[in-house]
Amino acid sequence: MSDLQPVRGTHDLLPEEMRRYRQVAETARLAAECYGFLEVATPIFEFADVFKRTLGDTSDIVTKEMYTFTDRGGETITLRPEGTAGVARAFISGGLSQHLPLKFFYAGPMFRYERPQKGRLRQFHQTGIELLGVKEPQGDIEVIATGVEFLRRLGAWDRCVLELNTLGDTESRQNYRRVLVEYFSAHRDRLSKDSQERLERNPLRILDSKDEGDQRLVGDAPVYSDYLNEASRDFFAAVRAGLDALGIAYKLNPRLVRGLDYYCHTCFEITCDELGAQKTVLAGGRYDGLIGQMGGPETAGVGWASGIERCGLLLKEVSAARRPIAVVPAGEAAQLPALQLAERLRRLGLAVDLGYSGNMGKRLKRANKLAARAAVILGEDELAKGVATLRDLDSGEQREVPLDALPGTLEIYR
Ligand code: ATP
Ligand code: MG
Repeated sequence: MSDLQPVRGTHDLLPEEMRRYRQVAETARLAAECYGFLEVATPIFEFADVFKRTLGDTSDIVTKEMYTFTDRGGETITLRPEGTAGVARAFISGGLSQHLPLKFFYAGPMFRYERPQKGRLRQFHQTGIELLGVKEPQGDIEVIATGVEFLRRLGAWDRCVLELNTLGDTESRQNYRRVLVEYFSAHRDRLSKDSQERLERNPLRILDSKDEGDQRLVGDAPVYSDYLNEASRDFFAAVRAGLDALGIAYKLNPRLVRGLDYYCHTCFEITCDELGAQKTVLAGGRYDGLIGQMGGPETAGVGWASGIERCGLLLKEVSAARRPIAVVPAGEAAQLPALQLAERLRRLGLAVDLGYSGNMGKRLKRANKLAARAAVILGEDELAKGVATLRDLDSGEQREVPLDALPGTLEIYR
């Protein structure tokens, strides 16, 4: 271990990576805004209980992945592993139930102690939306449509697949749970150790197991759709009809689950094969029981979260940094006037890079490196005449411009 290395599974966002990050997050925010979702931010850490209560004792996140520590006041604190629990906590502690329905968007870092690999980090970033207080299938449709529109704007949707399933209502889930436990109990010794544990506490999660032996058993397991009651089938049919009406293609995947009790009805994932093993870029579903389970008023909820790093890998092109104007003083006497000129231009909203040191050639080289659009050269001759030399760095054209006229002339480089 070296103090000078980043912690495993974390990485720095240097300017180009930061632009990639911004492009994804901003695209998500703007798409979400078009669907009426307003941006919020909840704290990056919460009491550990917020996640334990919402994610359940058996989830991978709670059993293996949380960054939990005791703070100096003796409180047990967790760095948030996902965004929904914090939003639900904010909804409850802010007493927001009078204001339903609520539509929230968020973006920011999440922390999970995972095995780092491509597309899997310990500090990663998500965008997400939560729609609270809508129990009708319209909510599911709109939430999915928002995710699709986000990926469309990223230029990635045509390379993605939307997988869809339903978990039904509580009654359906209990029916299914019963037959699943029966089925897997009969094959108990062939289950992985993890799944033997899940069998008691969270049998639906077995369907999601990555273990090959488990997968073989799962292949022959009873299928959820056979155990859905009529209300659940109707709900799912309405969601599908809505997606069809919007021309959003999907693939039914009866093995898609979210293992926790409060998940119900629609669950979905958007994947892109280009990404290899970690190919899920967006995942979500309906969680009507969550806020009630946390101790708040029973409130319907549906939402998704999407990994910013994985979405970033799907970008064909990352926008370039803003091209500045280089102000280049020549000679000692020009230093302060150049400083003042740069300041004046910046106040007008222009991006200006001020050449700090070195000869003219060196300063112009830096201007080129920054892809500056123009250089404003200020030397003693120019100062005496009250002008600056303006050089267009794309065309190479050069002319003198009176200092007073400079802001107007530079408008085209905004
Ligand atoms: P996985 O099956 O990949 O572990 P998950 O079910 O844990 O995913 P969610 O909690 O649904 O993932 O998170 C939603 C999205 O956040 C994922 O689809 C993925 O894009 C992203 N994501 C989750 N964990 C990580 C991670 N450790 N590093 C990078 N991105 C992640
Ligand atoms: Mg995971």
